[in-house]
Amino acid sequence: MKFATSAYRAGGTHTVVNPATGAWVTDVALADERETDETIAAAHEAFQSWRAVSPGERARLLRAFAATVDSHVEELAALEVIGAGHTIGNARWEAGNVRDVLNYYSASPERHFGRQIPVEGGVDVTFHEPLGVVGLIVPWNFPMPIASWGFGPALAAGNTVVLKPAELTPLTAMRIAELALEAGIPEHVLTVIPGKGTVVGNRFVTHPLVRKVAFTGSTVVGKAIMRGCADQVKRVTLELGGKGANIIFDDADLELAAASAPAGAFDNSGQDCCARSRILVQESVYERFLELLEPAVKAVKVMDPASPESEMGPMVSARQRDSVSAYLDKANIAYSGSTVTGTDGFWLAPTVVLPTGSHDPVWQDELFGPVVAVMPFADEADAVSKANDTDYGLAGSLFTSNLGRALRVARALDTGNLSINSHSSVRYWTPFGGFKQSGLGRELGPDAPDSFSEVKNVFISTER
Ligand code: NAD
Repeated sequence: MKFATSAYRAGGTHTVVNPATGAWVTDVALADERETDETIAAAHEAFQSWRAVSPGERARLLRAFAATVDSHVEELAALEVIGAGHTIGNARWEAGNVRDVLNYYSASPERHFGRQIPVEGGVDVTFHEPLGVVGLIVPWNFPMPIASWGFGPALAAGNTVVLKPAELTPLTAMRIAELALEAGIPEHVLTVIPGKGTVVGNRFVTHPLVRKVAFTGSTVVGKAIMRGCADQVKRVTLELGGKGANIIFDDADLELAAASAPAGAFDNSGQDCCARSRILVQESVYERFLELLEPAVKAVKVMDPASPESEMGPMVSARQRDSVSAYLDKANIAYSGSTVTGTDGFWLAPTVVLPTGSHDPVWQDELFGPVVAVMPFADEADAVSKANDTDYGLAGSLFTSNLGRALRVARALDTGNLSINSHSSVRYWTPFGGFKQSGLGRELGPDAPDSFSEVKNVFISTER
């Protein structure tokens, strides 16, 4: 397999390891602060010409970028399997998501129009002006989609982008930057800078020419970024952690709820900010639900992520696996599914735990692994109160056959993304983001280009 080469070298190297086997994959050279500054300066210079590209031409270039990604879906997917441990089925979807996001936002340059507002003595119009250089900081759990949710609308709105992938998973972003050039996107309009968060990511926060930081990652780092951005009143979008609740009422289709719960919790080995890692079940059906859930958990196909049959691969790193295992050592385990043994990969079985109460760490903390906690509730008010008893508020689900209850509970939950009788969460054409400490601002959907531009108001006198 051939890897994109890093244009940097002064920040040391990071060794990418195959999470399924622990084997060496490649070494990636990282940028230091000086190289980051040079990249930001080049992106700032490119901004002057990129913003002047006509709307129709910018749209055409984004469509060409989408088409180039489309013809490399298999290659990008293979990179994500080997470098991040994603199942091949997921990785293909993720590469296809980049293509779809680019196609969706390619329609934006020609439609991102302002308003004409009635005023006395003239004409008042508004414009959407691009911000300048946008710094994207991306986590390791969904390296491709999350990067494109930032650069798709940011480029469409006329900004240039510097993107820092997570240390663990730089390979697909580096390749996507090459594909952008191949598609005709001008140099320095989208640049990928592999590097450390504390070096490259931090420089996006402190460098005055970076006009917005779009960060996806942990709540603790997100808070530090928000504090840092305050110094320059820098625009910031935060997509942070989650501890999603899956609420199952006694009038729900219990078989459907139990059959779908493992995918809601264990997709991407539970390393998903939208994972429904807390299941709340109404008391009268709690025991029955646990009985139905067990075979569904045991049926999850945990196997080599390169196999098309694989439904769950390894965790991203030994560190992440050990952090989740430490919780399991102290948890009350109900049952587990299968796992892979006999390799040096970072495997962990999907596991169901029964918390001792709402203060149990497995109930409160974002474990970011294949662990789901199940707890009973008494009635609707108790369900809402328990679901909202967290600092997070990103995604959740509820299962009921009562439409009124479904809407009533959905409105009562402090959660940005809800699905009823399903676990769907992120569609590129609908808004995505968190309540409370799960984030700030919204990504995706028709309004995303607004968050990568400033509104300018212009009054033209008609009286002289
Ligand atoms: P992380 O916060 O450790 O790192 C995220 C990114 O920030 C990485 O690129 C990292 O290098 C960079 N970073 C680290 N320290 C930095 C600093 N001081 N300044 C600037 N950048 C810095 O998170 P992670 O472990 O890579 O990802 C897992 C977390 O991401 C989980 O909490 C998960 O819930 C969250 N997440 C949220 C969403 C969402 O959309 N809300 C999506 C995916 C992941």
